[in-house]
Amino acid sequence: MILIKSAAILVRHLNQARTKVQTIGFVPTMGALHRGHISLLEAARRGNDLTVCSIFVNPTQFNDPKDFEKYPVTLEKDIEILEANGVDILFLPSVDEVYPRGTSNLQQYDLGFLETILEGYYRPGHFQGVCQVMHRLLDMVQPDDLYMGQKDYQQCMVIRKLIELTGMTARLHPCPTLREADGLAMSSRNMRLDESSRQKAVIISQVLQRVCAALQPGPLEPITSAAELALAENGFKTDYVAIAAADNLELLDEWDGKRPLVALAAAYLGEVRLIDNMFIPITNSH
Ligand code: AMP
Repeated sequence: MILIKSAAILVRHLNQARTKVQTIGFVPTMGALHRGHISLLEAARRGNDLTVCSIFVNPTQFNDPKDFEKYPVTLEKDIEILEANGVDILFLPSVDEVYPRGTSNLQQYDLGFLETILEGYYRPGHFQGVCQVMHRLLDMVQPDDLYMGQKDYQQCMVIRKLIELTGMTARLHPCPTLREADGLAMSSRNMRLDESSRQKAVIISQVLQRVCAALQPGPLEPITSAAELALAENGFKTDYVAIAAADNLELLDEWDGKRPLVALAAAYLGEVRLIDNMFIPITNSH
């Protein structure tokens, strides 16, 4: 694996590589890698001749400075994981390499309603930051294929929109969420949970499973309210439990029994904010 810190060297190196390889796959991360990240790297390796991974904790997407300061960093272990998983290039830029003209007055993107709902509502500015860093990274890497996790469902939608807005050609591959044995969605932030919070954290996925099981055509509010109550009873401070159309994330109050859905939740355990989502399987009995 080659480790590159400079944007100019990365671009030069990839321009040379493109004369020899058919396709480049890209997996952007913020490090503190776990098996969820590894599943994206595996998908990139399966689908492409050359795999690029980036590790960059992007300051512009953190609306909460404490969350940024406390974001876990495990670089040595990350490098071992990337080597062991056959990654060709690790791009590890500094803030100055990504934002040579500073982090203020950066481009703003018209993300429509995606920016005003769910994560967009509770983390103002977050998706602008995500677009700023992804626009820059995609410009540098120019991947044929981009692999991102459905764990961050709304983020996948935002990146789809970014690709559309900018006319970039990367193909986005949303990849399934990997979970711990008890069902907790893997996340770098799970490292920040103490033992008792870690045990409780699984409840978020159990609550989403119950939402999926309770679904009937008709009003959805009783189902999401029951889920929010269950989280509150277990000591979570809930931002939202919501049900949305799986294809475009339109929030729904009522279900027609046909439209594919996704259930999403975000809640704090102490200072740690956890998010998760699940597709609602549509069976013939509905
Ligand atoms: P992050 O390092 O948290 O920015 O995540 C980097 C990429 O890994 C994003 O596309 C995430 O959606 C994805 N990811 C994070 N957690 C998981 C997971 N449990 N399963 C699959 N992909 C994940």
